[in-house]
Amino acid sequence: MLEKPIQMVDLRRQYERLRGEIDPAMRAVMEACAFINGPQVREFCDRLSDYLGVPYVIPCGNGTDALQIALMASGLRPGDEVIVPAFTYIAAAEVALALGLVPVLVDVDPRTFNIDPEKIEDALSEKTRAIIAVHLFGQCCDMESIARVAGRHQLSVIEDNAQSLGADYTFSDGTVRKAGTIASIGTTSFFPSKPLACYGDGGAMFTSDARLAERLRMIANHGQKARYHHTLVGRNSRLDSLQAAVLAVKLRHLEEFAAARREVAAGYDAAFRGSDAVRAPQRSAFSSHVYHQYTIRLDADKRDRVQAALKERGVPSMIYYPLPLQEQEVMRCRCRISGDLDVASRLSRSVLSLPIHTEMTEEEQAYIIESIKSVL
Ligand SMILES: *Cc1c(COP(=O)(O)O)cnc(C)c1O
Repeated sequence: MLEKPIQMVDLRRQYERLRGEIDPAMRAVMEACAFINGPQVREFCDRLSDYLGVPYVIPCGNGTDALQIALMASGLRPGDEVIVPAFTYIAAAEVALALGLVPVLVDVDPRTFNIDPEKIEDALSEKTRAIIAVHLFGQCCDMESIARVAGRHQLSVIEDNAQSLGADYTFSDGTVRKAGTIASIGTTSFFPSKPLACYGDGGAMFTSDARLAERLRMIANHGQKARYHHTLVGRNSRLDSLQAAVLAVKLRHLEEFAAARREVAAGYDAAFRGSDAVRAPQRSAFSSHVYHQYTIRLDADKRDRVQAALKERGVPSMIYYPLPLQEQEVMRCRCRISGDLDVASRLSRSVLSLPIHTEMTEEEQAYIIESIKSVL
């Protein structure tokens, strides 16, 4: 065992490294006592908009709200269908259900874990109105293929970019765009373990469409444009000034954070090259990878045993996600299932996410790799 415990994500060490920037930024908010809608919120959103190259960044309370507000702004009616991947976090399907929409589960690509665009076309019905493309684990879905299907059938596309902020998507003509800025609306979460993270809850929506931006902003603010004049059904969903102050500091380090995680990923890739037991995650040709997770696949009958043995050696690991959406109780009778969703089922029984973060030392990674090899 190493002297200091290994973390999946080492927030403490990152804070210690950035304390000199974060403490004064937070103190400035405390001194001004403008906790809601302080100048930090606007400043952070402006900087994020410059970084992403997207004209409108609308802050909100968390990544789940961002998805819900995006759907509310998309003019859907109860009973309309929304395509979501079967292998993902619950949020996209959950907000669809909360709005009386019907999630349609579509299978994913076993190499990249992202939605399989070829299977979207088969899943469409008269009622399908939107696709939520979730950029899982740090790299983009095949947005060009998704846009083609969406264009043919007049579907809105929302990108759930909670896990891949900072990733670059390259179109076949060579144009490069940041993940989250490709579809009509992108959403993200600033939950503490995400690629761009605050010290609590936070989220944002991205769009290039001025009218949509106004709608999103109004819905996040009780459906009002002028104070106390409510024209849309809205929510109360805000990013507070303290979180914005933290995010402004971390945004300056975002590229460096991604580079640090890529280095860890490269270390794992090299260690698992040629292994029969460990299938390392694949990179897609059209997206860079920011490695929110480094997720390997093991034989389903070995996975849980390997995880337990690693734990005994002080190596944490996580199963993202232990159930595909079709097996979630809440989804039963409330969603439509397209095809056999066999890949999603198999993945949920074979995936294992390894520790990866911005502070990992060579010694720690060597210990993790050695532990995995010895327990296999
Ligand atoms: C974290 C996450 C969310 C939800 O974000 P919160 O800020 O926790 O509400 C949504 N989608 C994906 C893919 C996520 O990873």
